[in-house]
This record gives sequence, structure tokens and C-alpha cells, in this order.
Amino acid sequence: MPLVPSQPLADAVAQREQATLAPYAMRSADSAGRKQGEPPHPYRGPFQRDRDRIVHCAAFRRLSSKTQVFTGDLGDYHRTRLTHTLEVASIARTLARAMRLNEDLVEALALMHDIGHPPFGHAGEAVLHECMQQHGGFNHNCHALRIVEHLEQGDPRSSGLNLSAEVLEGQRLRAPQRREDAGPQEGHGALLEVQVVDAADSIAYDTHDADDALELGLIEMGELLELPLWKEAAAAAADRFATLSQRQLRRIIVRDLIERLVSDMLAASTLRIAAQGLDSVAAVRRSERVVHPSHELAEQKAELEGFLYQRVYRHPEILAQRKRAQDALRGMFVGYLADIARLPEAFQLTARANGAHQAVTDYLASLTDRSARQEFERG
Ligand code: MG
Repeated sequence: MPLVPSQPLADAVAQREQATLAPYAMRSADSAGRKQGEPPHPYRGPFQRDRDRIVHCAAFRRLSSKTQVFTGDLGDYHRTRLTHTLEVASIARTLARAMRLNEDLVEALALMHDIGHPPFGHAGEAVLHECMQQHGGFNHNCHALRIVEHLEQGDPRSSGLNLSAEVLEGQRLRAPQRREDAGPQEGHGALLEVQVVDAADSIAYDTHDADDALELGLIEMGELLELPLWKEAAAAAADRFATLSQRQLRRIIVRDLIERLVSDMLAASTLRIAAQGLDSVAAVRRSERVVHPSHELAEQKAELEGFLYQRVYRHPEILAQRKRAQDALRGMFVGYLADIARLPEAFQLTARANGAHQAVTDYLASLTDRSARQEFERG
């Protein structure tokens, strides 16, 4: 059999999607396409190509050395921005497959969702936003769009990765609405593929941030056991296993929680889809968001999030680390702004085209925690 079949495979992708996807799933044949038209690939569908372009871009690789919540100084057990992203993609695919959504689109959206994060997570984001106050501010979701639409170069003839409209649209919906922008257009609500990625993101961080904080000794298991969500999972583990070490128990609880949250999300969302009679992408776009947990689990999840906010994200050690990172990044911003010639050449071009503030932001946002720290120490 020839490696590249002679019959047009774009048709085969469309046929496969037609046969396997639910009526409310986004089909690649119905995509609004790319900014620069491209001939169909002989054996990869358009959303699959988007996914591949994201995985192969430099900004994606740099996620490996970027903070999710805890920086690399604290060891190597906890999640990085990259492993968080992979957990999101994994959970999102599980949801998508069970709901017969477009998995290629879901995976592209999931792998891209955090690509715009600067070094040091939200601490870094806050500094860049402050430094860019007079120049439109900075937001990691907007920066993700800037990366895939302008900064990365997939093809020498154009800037950006030339991704499909639905992938860009999904990311655009994550970005905060600016006052001068109109809200989402009527009939242009989030695709289910987009909703599933948002849901998977929150399942991933709720569970892994608790796991990481326990491993790092920032919180105690006893505190989490006061939360119903955690308590029920611990009781289920106790029913199944007579004796467990603390670490074994933790691992089983985290696994059980993901399963519980995913199953609940599927059941609740499927009911809403049926209740609202969503039988097409057009109907999905006209409807409110339907992919979210049941009322009961939403409450329990919110309790866990409240706990994580107070006891983990605002832990004195994390806040102290946050301050050190912010002081360093702020200093670097000021330093580069005063001497643009120190920026790598590509960013000096940006300074000429889009102004010095944008160039310094693009450069600093591209750094990993590690390279930012090295630069700072070099002075
Ligand atoms: Mg995320």
C-alpha cells in the first residue's frame, strides 16, 4: 500500500468525522479555514495539523521550564506548565471522546491554552501587566494569540502558525473582553470543544495543585480531609484498601477525584445537551455554556478552590518567592527598556515596528524561569 494514498484523504478525514462525531461536534469540513489558504494535507486533517504546529513550536517547548504554581527551586515532583498542559490535554481528550467531540480540535486547544504564560506564572504576568499599563496591558491568554498569530514562524512566507479559525476563536474566548471590543457576537458562543478544554483545565489544576502542595509540605492531608470532596474520596479509598501509606492514599485520592470530576462533568453536561436539544454546532453557538459540573460538585469544587487559594496560592513561602521573582522581572523590564540594543536582534526589530514596551514584553514573556533567572543573575 502506498504511504500516501492516491485518493484524496481530506475526504477520508471528513468521512471519518461524519461517521464518528456527534451532531453537535465541530467538523473540520465546516471550518472557517485559515487566514492564508493552504491545500489540504494528504493524510492529516486541519485540526490535527494545528495540533502538530503547536507541539513543534518553540513557545510550547519552553513550557517545560515555566512555573505552574511552584518554581523549580522547590524540587522536581510538582507540575511544570508543560506537564499541567499535558494533563489538561489528557482529561480534555477523555471528555471529548466520551462526548464524541472533535478530539483533534480539543487537543490543539488544550496544548495551546497556556502557551502565552511568561516566566514565574501569574506572578510574572502581573509584573508585565503593570509594566504595560500605558500600552494595553498584558494577559497570558492574549499573549498566546500574539505568539501563534505573529511571533512564531511556521512558514517563511508568513508570520504566525496560520492556525484554523476555530482554534484561534477558542483561545480568543479565553482572553478578557476589552471594553472597546463588542461582546461575543450573537450565535457565536463557545464550541463544545472549547468548553471541554476549560473544564479539563480546572479539573487538572484543582487536583494537581492539592497533590503538589501536599508533597511540598505546604498543607497537611488532615486539612484537606475537612473538605467534603476530599473526604468522600478518602472514604472510598479506605473501603477498598485496608492499609495505605500517606503517599499511597494521596495518589489514590487524586486519581479518584479526577475520575469523579470527569464522570460528573460528563453526566451533567450530557443531560444539559439533551435538555436543550443541542443537535448542531449552530445550536451550540446559540446556547449558554453546558459543560460544567453538577450543582453539588460545583459547590464542592468551589470549596476546594477557596481552600487552595487561601492556604496554597497565598502561602507565605509562595508569596515570598512570588515577590522575589516579581522584583527581578521588573528590574529586567526597566533595564531593557533603557537599553533596547541589549535585546536579541529579532526583538529590536519589534521595538522599531511596535514600540520598545512591546518588544521588551515579547522578549521577557518568551523566557523560561531558568533563563530569566540566569539573565537576572548576570545583571
Ligand atoms: Mg491551564
